[in-house]
Amino acid sequence: MSGAYTESLNKLIEEFEKLPGVGPKTAERLAFYVLKVAPAEAMRLADAIRDTKNKIKRCEVCYNYSEQKICEICSDERRDKSLICVVEQPKDVIALEKTGACKWVYHVLGGHIAPLEGIEASDLTIDKLVERVRGGGVKEVIMATNPNMAGDGTTLYVSSVLRPLGVKITRLARGLPAGSTIEYASGKILTDAILGRRELE
Ligand SMILES: [Zn+2]
Repeated sequence: MSGAYTESLNKLIEEFEKLPGVGPKTAERLAFYVLKVAPAEAMRLADAIRDTKNKIKRCEVCYNYSEQKICEICSDERRDKSLICVVEQPKDVIALEKTGACKWVYHVLGGHIAPLEGIEASDLTIDKLVERVRGGGVKEVIMATNPNMAGDGTTLYVSSVLRPLGVKITRLARGLPAGSTIEYASGKILTDAILGRRELE
């Protein structure tokens, strides 16, 4: 930032710098890009940011992002509602959906249990998942948390609270490299993991 820039430009550079992976040089370049483009073009970016924050909320059933009360997947009649795939975050839904191998519905936990980071089970949507299963009609809960320590711990906890309800609980197969994440897994590996899922002992 420099005193040579106007106040607005300094502010814009400052905001861009807060974005993940954006350093001071890139922030400056982006700010000058905004300054240079046609007003309508720049406003489209501003509107997209505003809409994202104003319109997107959580689906009341699965807690995935949605612009309606109930998301498109939950309201899709062709989905098998007796299968609930449990993931940590909305990005995981996108990764799994890309495989085209999923006809189930989801439940987004909103993260994983990590006591050292101050994230307890009660901070996630686990109670809502229990409510869904208790509501009946659920045959299988497929745990698709990340294959790392936090994800495994979360699956262990979730299965311990679901087990008394008598529902079948499975876990994506271990084709996924240990310590990796669902988000960055390839479509082929994910599809194999879905098809090869195993019942949790
Ligand atoms: Zn939903």
